[in-house]
Amino acid sequence: MTSKTFDTIIIGGGISGLACAKRLQEHNEDFLLISKDIGGRILPSEDGTANYGAFFVCLDYYHTLKYVKLKNQIRLRDFCFHEGEDTYVLFEPALIKYSFQFLKALRLLYKFRKAFRKLRKVCENTSQKEAIENDSFLHDVYMKNAADFVKEYAIESGTDRYLSKGLYSTTFSKIDEMNAFSFLEFCLPLITPIYRFSFEKDKMIESFKDKIIIGSVSDIKHKDGKYKIKSGKDFFHSKNIVLATEINWSQRFAGVKKTNLPVDTNMLHIKGNPKSIIAKKEYQLFSYPSNVQAIATLKDETFLFYYKNKQPSLDRYFANPKIISHKHWKPAGTINGHTLIECNRGNNMFLIGDYNVAGLEESYITGIFAANQIVKLNQP
Ligand SMILES: Cc1cc2nc3c(=O)[nH]c(=O)nc-3n(C[C@H](O)[C@H](O)[C@H](O)COP(=O)(O)OP(=O)(O)OC[C@H]3O[C@@H](n4cnc5c(N)ncnc54)[C@H](O)[C@@H]3O)c2cc1C
Repeated sequence: MTSKTFDTIIIGGGISGLACAKRLQEHNEDFLLISKDIGGRILPSEDGTANYGAFFVCLDYYHTLKYVKLKNQIRLRDFCFHEGEDTYVLFEPALIKYSFQFLKALRLLYKFRKAFRKLRKVCENTSQKEAIENDSFLHDVYMKNAADFVKEYAIESGTDRYLSKGLYSTTFSKIDEMNAFSFLEFCLPLITPIYRFSFEKDKMIESFKDKIIIGSVSDIKHKDGKYKIKSGKDFFHSKNIVLATEINWSQRFAGVKKTNLPVDTNMLHIKGNPKSIIAKKEYQLFSYPSNVQAIATLKDETFLFYYKNKQPSLDRYFANPKIISHKHWKPAGTINGHTLIECNRGNNMFLIGDYNVAGLEESYITGIFAANQIVKLNQP
């Protein structure tokens, strides 16, 4: 049994906890990071060739890009949309019918991207909740249901034919479950290039790897201005605490009563011969109520197959399918709703991660924010 004291303890080694640790290290702060694993929802396959969690990065993920190796670009022309028995691609003659709606969507996306990039800068020193609340456009879209937003801008049929399928495969949600902020965020790949990637974990943790303990925290107590953290048989003490775990675990310690709704998905890594229905394009996109959500072809001719509930028959899509791996992401994220949660919980406690806004870069920035606040707290 060990009992040690640190200035700050970070619980959770996903991108948000790692970003926080990295920033604290840059300021020579005293800290310990305790996590069940390193990477969290960035989960590579055993041989490192596939990503079982986060799949792509955008070219404007300024911080995250420093710690990933870019692989091939994901292009719109590589998408195949599925609607019942029907399959079609984006660049088809029928697209002309939707061109006016597309132009409207593009205008909205450029406006959103500008505000979103500004938000990223602001969020390094202002909590995400406060920063969104201070921006009337971003706050408005956060509070609006995506289905109502789509109706308001009269882009329903184009959304139904194309965007809903891209969104179901990236957010695992249907349009009427989402808020308009997430709708716009996850449509950004229409105007910002996206790439598959591999996470350079060693590069990320190089400067603070001796401050990491692999373990599972089971309890946190706060008494006399100090936190007491239980991990296995060991106890750790700290003045500051950063909760960088999934919100459904951390909310009880942070006194968070309401969160956005969790959404889950199943992922199968499959080896098999693709049947003609999926053979022509690299990415197969489906929409609600399809149980299958997306199929991605990897370089080694294996596939990632995402589905919602009961495992569907794979024979429709593959000859001789063999399952290499299965991962149930429960939850994959917690972004459907209109609840903004404050990161600074008082009593030197910070709650970071993707509970307000999903995605690697946004999670990374919540880690920077917490670290910056701790550095300020520790200044004499
Ligand atoms: C299938 C899937 C696909 C995705 N695709 C993309 C994508 O393409 N692009 C993108 O930008 N984002 C994507 N995301 C979202 C992105 O992965 C997340 O937003 C981001 O990784 C969240 O990081 P985090 O640090 O907040 O949480 P996490 O990565 O979940 O980290 C939480 C950490 O806490 C640890 N932990 C939990 N409980 C305890 C405990 N009791 N004690 C100690 N440690 C604990 C966990 O082991 C983990 O390391 C995807 C997510 C999923 C699931």
